[in-house]
Amino acid sequence: MLKIKNLHTYYGGIHALKSVSLELNEGEIITLIGANGAGKSTTLMSISGIVPPRYGEIFFMGKPIHKMTPDKIFSLGIVQVPEGRRIFPYLTVTENLDMGAYLRKDKLEIKKDIDYMFTLFPRLAERRNQVGGTLSGGEQLLLPISRALMRTPKLLLLDEPSLGLAPVLVQLIFETIKRINKENRTTIFLVEQNANMALRIAHRGYVMESGAIALEDTAANLLASEKVKAAYLGL
Ligand code: ATP
Repeated sequence: MLKIKNLHTYYGGIHALKSVSLELNEGEIITLIGANGAGKSTTLMSISGIVPPRYGEIFFMGKPIHKMTPDKIFSLGIVQVPEGRRIFPYLTVTENLDMGAYLRKDKLEIKKDIDYMFTLFPRLAERRNQVGGTLSGGEQLLLPISRALMRTPKLLLLDEPSLGLAPVLVQLIFETIKRINKENRTTIFLVEQNANMALRIAHRGYVMESGAIALEDTAANLLASEKVKAAYLGL
């Protein structure tokens, strides 16, 4: 579904991605793990066109997308959920979800999908008429994920969805990611510092170090790898 070949991305003179190559198959959960500053977010932003790569190629369903604008990439069904609480604070939870569907015309389906979000996130259902700005910190982190799902993405790019969440919500987020993948066959590219949880739900994984891919394998093999255990799982 997605093929990245020898990607090089820069911030001015900073060479953030150094010949990154990776692949995602339809229906997979892939995780990209690595330390702070390794280049994980830059990889996602290169895919979504926010930080266009200087060299290299990205193909989505066979089409080159590395020269496309972010809105064009979005319209192909690649939806990124950036790190943090990006919500519309003065709109209600339901209105926030509606905003996620602004490119869609299928009113009845939109209503059904909002109800589905409320089954995925009962906490948001309880607060459906509350404005976003008054939600708790954890709830404000759930809302952008559900809003992105309203776009019915083919490929969902998640940047550190568990960052800043209380342990009980961390569990919920990972279970929900697995459920979205299973129930909707949404392909998911998950960037995480919580390597343990991410590898437990992913099919395959990549480890990034200093802007380059250092390891790639099935999630089960990475979980069992001595190198990964020592460097990323704290074992
Ligand atoms: P984190 O987990 O901390 O978000 P990361 O693995 O996602 O880390 P990136 O944010 O992709 O890493 O950063 C990769 C490199 O690019 C780092 O050296 C970082 O300092 C640099 N970088 C990231 N954003 C910018 C920017 N806007 N301007 C300049 N350098 C940047």
